[in-house]
Amino acid sequence: MTTPTRSTLCLILLLAVLFNMVTGSHQAGAQTAAPQAKLSVHWEELTAADFREGIHRSQATCLLPFGILEKHGPHLPLGTDLLDVRYSALHGAEQEYAVVFPEYYFGQIAEAKHEPGTVAYSREMQLALLQETTDEMARNGCKKVIIVNGHGGNDSLLPFFAQTQLDKPHDYVVYVFDERTPSSGGPAKKTKIDMHAGESETSKMMISRPDTVHLDRAANESGADQHRQNLPQGLYTGIWWYARFPNHYSGEGSAATKELGEYQMQWWIDSIVKAIRAVKADDVSLKLQNEFYEKSKHPLDTQP
Ligand SMILES: [Zn+2]
Repeated sequence: MTTPTRSTLCLILLLAVLFNMVTGSHQAGAQTAAPQAKLSVHWEELTAADFREGIHRSQATCLLPFGILEKHGPHLPLGTDLLDVRYSALHGAEQEYAVVFPEYYFGQIAEAKHEPGTVAYSREMQLALLQETTDEMARNGCKKVIIVNGHGGNDSLLPFFAQTQLDKPHDYVVYVFDERTPSSGGPAKKTKIDMHAGESETSKMMISRPDTVHLDRAANESGADQHRQNLPQGLYTGIWWYARFPNHYSGEGSAATKELGEYQMQWWIDSIVKAIRAVKADDVSLKLQNEFYEKSKHPLDTQP
């Protein structure tokens, strides 16, 4: 009696173990992405398992394209910087795989608060939200965060944000990529002043979202420099932009062409690809950060 019962129990136990192994491995299989599958570069389009594969494939490199909502002359949409920067970043990441964070437009734009449609968060909110965003990206494996800036008004905010990453230890590196327009090459430009909604930006929008460009309205307002502030170079005020370009328009959008847009957008995408490759190859910055954080704890022991 005892022997058959024991062997029956053993058999049941063995079957249970085998069943567990089979179903267990099946569940594990369901959570693992097919290694050769084409992965979306869009963070929000990935499943949880594909996200894990995406972080692996990107070598922990993620892009945070940074736009804004502000007036762009009389002829371009409020989201011009967001639409353009996402176009270039997504195309760049398609060529050199990186995970791209969803729409982000919480930057510095106080100088356009007098125009309709501007969304301007306080400086405390801008810094806190950006820190929590990059912290959350890093917690999810993005140990190399490239902020791809699409908005000129962030030009002081982003280096400041990167500098303040040294105030306490972080287990990731923030890289700021802040180039949007080539300084030379391509079709000859017709205008001299070209800072906001002008020839270059309008041309790029003719590539990324031509359906939103109203070229026939580009001359309805003046984008000329009005020189309303007379201060020597080297003296800075926050009102300088409004003093020069009160219509929140700098340049002549009507000079835009698709050919210039094609050249500039391709240059931007190529530059982002180069930046992603350089960041992937960078094994120095995090090591130096860690060395710096450690030394910062006891500066008197630091040798010259
Ligand atoms: Zn813009």
